[in-house]
Amino acid sequence: MSAAGPDAELIAARLDRARRLMAERGVEALLVSVGRDLPYLAGYEAMPLERVTMLVVLPDGEATLVVPALEAARVTPMPGAFTIVPWGETDDPIAVIAGLLGDRRAVAVGDQMWARFLVEMLARVPDLRPVRAVDVVGELRILKDDAEVGALAAAASAVDGIATDLQAGRIPLLGRTEAEVSADLSRRILEAGHERVNFAIVASGENAASPHHHPGPRVIERGDLVLCDFGGTMNGYCSDITRCVSIGTPDPEVAEAWEVLRAAQQASVESATVGTACQEVDRAGRRVITEAGYGEFFIHRTGHGIGMEEHEDPYMVEGNDLPLSAGHAFSVEPGIYVPGRWGMRLEDIVVATDSGPRRLNTADHGLAVI
Ligand code: ZN
Ligand code: ZN
Ligand code: ZN
Repeated sequence: MSAAGPDAELIAARLDRARRLMAERGVEALLVSVGRDLPYLAGYEAMPLERVTMLVVLPDGEATLVVPALEAARVTPMPGAFTIVPWGETDDPIAVIAGLLGDRRAVAVGDQMWARFLVEMLARVPDLRPVRAVDVVGELRILKDDAEVGALAAAASAVDGIATDLQAGRIPLLGRTEAEVSADLSRRILEAGHERVNFAIVASGENAASPHHHPGPRVIERGDLVLCDFGGTMNGYCSDITRCVSIGTPDPEVAEAWEVLRAAQQASVESATVGTACQEVDRAGRRVITEAGYGEFFIHRTGHGIGMEEHEDPYMVEGNDLPLSAGHAFSVEPGIYVPGRWGMRLEDIVVATDSGPRRLNTADHGLAVI
């Protein structure tokens, strides 16, 4: 995979792996439309419009990308991987797709496909038996190859630079609103090479006790703890980092809680070895926070998988006994949230490798004081 995206050889290999899983699962066809599975399997991102774009993958035959004629020029041809079938404004793309399906009925349908396309398919092919595409494609996407890990690492180091500026006081906080700082972070995410900003949470003082606080008009004051959680998409892969900054010397209670959080995050990262169950990664950090007396204030799971989407499998959560494999990429982001007072979170992206957990984010893990 280059910065420009995957090439025909890589796409053909992914499609072949999808076909093997389809055969194993008795899936007779795979239909992928808008959403992240399409760029993964075709190197093409469909505009989220009403005109049908559909990659039709058959276990034994060709893959076909049915695409609106006016969008066809945006598709990079992938000889040997799929055939492009453009449809004109007066054509019936559902009929084209139904024709490709023939008498196949057990069809895996992209999770993020418009309901409208599926409903139209069901009207045309009444005995269609749709199943979830995630049960086929998810198994592929959860394992990042070297090029994908490289893309995640590049995105991580881009936001590391912003986090470092934040910690050094190079991004003004005092006297500005959360919304202003959020806009500043968003601009920097783009300047650092991302093509898209996915979020830039800035939560100050008591607002930080709400993990997904929407940055608003609150003005950052002396004594605040400011939580910044931001990320975007760079060359198709996501970044996601959280660091906290204290405006002036933190309250001793806050400084102490930060050391607990940091130790918890470290424990979770260290636990993330190949073969360890995802829930153990959650437990390792939660144990540290609970033993320090903050257990009731750690109100969310420890992490989520990351790749072409900000949140995808595998999830670091109690109840997930999936063992980590080399190539699993996920966040480790414990937090402590004391309602009405303050909140803190520390987040890195980590990849499980055969030589141990690899942190992709390296920005300082201390509580920055500015
Ligand atoms: Zn989150
Ligand atoms: Zn985050
Ligand atoms: Zn996250």
